[in-house]
Amino acid sequence: MPSLACSVCGADVDVPSDVMDGEIVSCPSCGTKYIVRINNGQMLLEEFKGDVEDYGE
Ligand SMILES: [Zn+2]
Repeated sequence: MPSLACSVCGADVDVPSDVMDGEIVSCPSCGTKYIVRINNGQMLLEEFKGDVEDYGE
């Protein structure tokens, strides 16, 4: 399972290996939410500041 570093606290954020672009993950350490962005096979975490419940509607 790949993991990316949380930009807030530096902890490893686990990302499912079959993650889809736009999926939301959260840091297990500080709870910051991220949107996974996949760009040319490269995974990036974009900080998500909105309300998860409203996302995707
Ligand atoms: Zn964190």
